[in-house]
Amino acid sequence: MSVKRILVIAGSDSSGGAGLEADQKVIAAHGCYAMTATTALTAQNTLGVSDIHHTPPPFLQKQIDACIEDIGVDVVKTGMLASADAVSVVADAFRRHSIRTSVVDPVMVSTSGSQLLPGEAVDTLIKQLLPLTTVLTPNLPEAELLLKTAGISFMDPENVDDISIIAKQLQQLGPKYVLLKGGHLPLTKGRLVSKGEADQDVVLNVLYGEGETTLMETPYQKSRNTHGTGCSLASAIACNIASGMSIVNAVKKANLYIEAGIKTSKGLGKGNGPINHFH
Ligand code: PLP
Repeated sequence: MSVKRILVIAGSDSSGGAGLEADQKVIAAHGCYAMTATTALTAQNTLGVSDIHHTPPPFLQKQIDACIEDIGVDVVKTGMLASADAVSVVADAFRRHSIRTSVVDPVMVSTSGSQLLPGEAVDTLIKQLLPLTTVLTPNLPEAELLLKTAGISFMDPENVDDISIIAKQLQQLGPKYVLLKGGHLPLTKGRLVSKGEADQDVVLNVLYGEGETTLMETPYQKSRNTHGTGCSLASAIACNIASGMSIVNAVKKANLYIEAGIKTSKGLGKGNGPINHFH
C-alpha cells in the first residue's frame, strides 16, 4: 500500500511540543508522510510564546503549491494560520487543488495566552475556509469565538444537550463534521458542574456530522504536560482518515493516542511540557 501523504499548514513551535514540529512527530508515529507549509515561526518554549515572525502569504502559497503539484496529498491538516491573508491563501489553495479531505484546527490563542490568529481573521476563516472543511476541531473558547463572530448567540453550556447544540451550530457554518473538544468543561460523573465544585473526572468530546451526534468520553488526566494536545489530536485524526477509517473511528482512535501521550509524557521544561508522541 502506498504511503499516505499529509500536508500540514501551520506555525512552527521552536520547543517542539506543538505546531508543525508536533504534527510531524504524530504523522511519523502513524506511519504517514508529512509535508509542511509554514505560516509563521514562533519563538516558544514550555512557558510561552516570546515572539512571532509571519511568513509572507505569497511564499506560503508557493510552499503549498510546491508540495501538492509534485508529491500530491491525501489529507490536509491546518493549525495556526496566523493572519487573515494566510487564511485566504489556504482557502484559495483548497479550491485550486480540489482538496476534498481536511482537518482544520481553528487555533486562536495558545494555552499560555498568546494570540495565534488575530480577531479580524476569524471572520475570514468562517467565510472562506469552513465551507471547504471536512473536520473542524474547536475547543470551547474557540467555539464561542466562532459562533459570536458569525453573529450567533452563545451561552455557556449547562448540560450535554447544550454542548451538542453548540456542535450542531458550528456545523451549520460549513464543515462536514465538528469535533467539539471538552477539555475546558468541568464534568463529573457524566454531568457538568460549576468550576471548583468537584474535580473533573472525564473529558467529553462531541462529534457531530451527517445528522449523527457521537459522544466520546475519555478519563480526565490532571497533568501540566498537555502542550500541543490540540495540534497532535488533529494530526492523528488526519492520519487515521488518510488510512481509510471512518471519521467517527478516526476521532476515537486519535483520542486514545492523545490519552496515552499525556500519560507517558516525559515532563520536559519548566512549564506545560509536551506530550509523548511515540508510545
Ligand atoms: N504554537 C503553535 C505554533 C501552535 O500551532 C499551537 C497550537 O496549535 C500552539 C502554539 C498552542 O499550543 P498549546 O495551546 O497546546 O500551548
